[in-house]
Amino acid sequence: MAKKEIPAQTVWTCDCCANELIGKNWRYRGKVETANDVHDLYGHAVAGENHRYDLCDTCFTAVNKAIVETIKGKETPCSI
Ligand SMILES: [Zn+2]
Repeated sequence: MAKKEIPAQTVWTCDCCANELIGKNWRYRGKVETANDVHDLYGHAVAGENHRYDLCDTCFTAVNKAIVETIKGKETPCSI
């Protein structure tokens, strides 16, 4: 009887569209990380959030474009 060992493989999933991230759709190795600290009126930290998203090339391109356009002021939510 022959034995064939298949090495373990890590499969990532896009946090936006849930597609598996494989070589052809994860060339950018896109990641988006956000973090904030919420302070009360006295300056004491009361909450905070950290998020990290692994994104396929298509989702990363769309998210990256939205961030860049927002920061450049083309779609500033504060001016609405
Ligand atoms: Zn995706």
